[in-house]
Amino acid sequence: MANIAKRRNYGRRRVLITGGAGFLGSHLADRLLARGDEVLCVDNLFTGDKTNIDHLAPHPRFDFMRHDVTMPLYVEVDEIWNLACPASPVHYQHDPVQTTKTSVHGAINMLGLAKRLKVPIFQASTSEVYGDPSIHPQPEQYWGNVNPIGPRSCYDEGKRCAETLFFDYHRQHGIDIKVARIFNTYGPRMHASDGRVVSNFIVQALRGEDITIYGDGSQTRSFCYVDDLIEGFVRMMEAGPDLHGPVNLGNPSEFTIRELAEMVLAKIGGPSRLVTKPLPQDDPLQRRPDIALARRKLGWKPTVALEDGLDRTIAYFRAIVAETGERIGE
Ligand code: NAD
Ligand code: UDP
Ligand code: UDP
Repeated sequence: MANIAKRRNYGRRRVLITGGAGFLGSHLADRLLARGDEVLCVDNLFTGDKTNIDHLAPHPRFDFMRHDVTMPLYVEVDEIWNLACPASPVHYQHDPVQTTKTSVHGAINMLGLAKRLKVPIFQASTSEVYGDPSIHPQPEQYWGNVNPIGPRSCYDEGKRCAETLFFDYHRQHGIDIKVARIFNTYGPRMHASDGRVVSNFIVQALRGEDITIYGDGSQTRSFCYVDDLIEGFVRMMEAGPDLHGPVNLGNPSEFTIRELAEMVLAKIGGPSRLVTKPLPQDDPLQRRPDIALARRKLGWKPTVALEDGLDRTIAYFRAIVAETGERIGE
């Protein structure tokens, strides 16, 4: 107890966000600063971008540390949010060994930190632990259908192993863990060039380029707006020491990829055409969260419809494209 009191600054909570310069991490930093916390953002800037946190740099309760989570980290905090990991297939397949190291060694180091400090730790897990699911929609009890040796395995199996570590540290060392399985999330500060479908389609339409549908576009995804997701994160951490998860967080409204392309094109207009490209290997055919557990335990459900979330995301990318065309596709 004395230890915790020492770390707190006049009763203020000090939180660590790994991957804090990324898409989700920077939104979480905004949210936790607004809650009154001190935020330490740790990131090696592999896929993150300082521009995501530029607006926070002058904030007296915000700190940034450039650090790779595969290396040990000795800091004093009251709460850990472990988000560090490249999330898009283009990025995580760029250096697959480093991707697995980030998930596995990163989890060990952050769990070791949580163990020393006796503080709760949140893990950004993923719907990819379900692989190409044979059960639809996916409840948390489903064990998944994952190829252990394919091009997506570095991410999927890395995240599965991280979940194993989280639950073993919980059982073996009594760590208060919160494991969220995040389904496709979109919004401002997504990377313009990381190949994810929402950013790809919007940027292509804004530039009047062809919109690239992989396969026939009949595969489905469920898209959650970032503000809804962050609300789910905070509710999980605040749920108390009896909730450990895993808990699915995502929007259960399911769309085919072709429907998404048509929606984006209808909103942006212009000369873009829908063209098809080969479906990547092991691309899941369908994905929709069963969020009954999150509803029951957290009182959480998404509130932003895809139509509205797309409008906000398009406005963000429109500003970037207008600012400097060169930034897109860097
Ligand atoms: P992102 O790429 O924008 O953010 C990841 C951040 O982690 C980046 O800032 C990157 O520089 C940092 N990072 C990567 N390797 C690191 C390392 N070894 N040490 C320190 N920092 C490192 O991706 P995101 O969409 O914000 O994803 C954040 C987390 O949420 C990831 O763990 C991801 O797996 C998970 N997730 C995201 C989604 C989604 O739809 N966005 C879905 C499921 C899970
Ligand atoms: N660790 C860390 N910060 C800490 C405590 C531990 O980065 O404040 C790392 C350290 O590298 C260690 C790992 O977490 O190897 C796992 O810690 P744990 O106590 O579980 O195991 P051990 O120290 O016995 O290897
Ligand atoms: N996709 C697509 N065109 C693109 C980018 C992605 O049709 O330009 C497809 C991709 O094949 C997948 C879906 O959109 O079926 C979602 O891809 P993303 O990489 O965004 O997420 P994930 O596959 O990890 O869910």
